Amino acid sequence: MFPIVILKDMNGFDFEKAEKAVAILPVGSIERHGDHLPLGTDSELPEHIAYKSAELSGAVVLPTIYYGSCHAMRCFPGTFDIDPEVLFRYIECVLEEAWRNGIELVIILNGHGGNSAQIQMAARRATSKTGLSVAVIDWWKDLGTSKKELFSSPGHAGEDETSAMLAVAEEKVNIYLAGRNEVTYPKMKVYSKKVDEKIYEVALTGDAKKATKEKGKELISAAVEDLTRIIADLRRELGI
Ligand SMILES: [Zn+2]
Repeated sequence: MFPIVILKDMNGFDFEKAEKAVAILPVGSIERHGDHLPLGTDSELPEHIAYKSAELSGAVVLPTIYYGSCHAMRCFPGTFDIDPEVLFRYIECVLEEAWRNGIELVIILNGHGGNSAQIQMAARRATSKTGLSVAVIDWWKDLGTSKKELFSSPGHAGEDETSAMLAVAEEKVNIYLAGRNEVTYPKMKVYSKKVDEKIYEVALTGDAKKATKEKGKELISAAVEDLTRIIADLRRELGI
């Protein structure tokens, strides 16, 4: 086990001496998640996974980027939608500053689908301008995949995300307000207000009522294990 190294809590003297070649950058959103989950759910989950994995991998945890691009949920109160171009440039700047401060590999741990394209663009741009390496992980898709069969009704604020929040911060979940909205997503990516309005009649997809803390714990610990293994593999591959 390593002591967790949290960048925002370090003093300058300790930062200069710290082993900081590898860092995790959680990126999330402030967005409506049904009526039962906190607006910061997409930030809280990757941040928790990052802290747990840092204990096992020795990576530094960078401050979470809380605001994301939330186009589809824009009409629901509580959603803060950041312009995609602004988010892309902002993440690019953070990556460039990480490199300038001695970090060689950043693992971006994303918690929100609307951020994915901007993160990829930022990673490409920053790594072409500097010697930094960046790994991009959409945690709900790329981590804990062995536990997917636990959830018959996953989705935005659905069974899987609600279970994960029960495991990580039960006190922030009002399970009595959990709802259900079974939808069919289009087979390909369709960008359309009409399609969004059909899918998101409420700010929820899947069945949050099926969520349990136990399933969430299994998902989160598998995600932490997967991330820790990915970091070890990358360290080996990149010689960091
Ligand atoms: Zn979410």
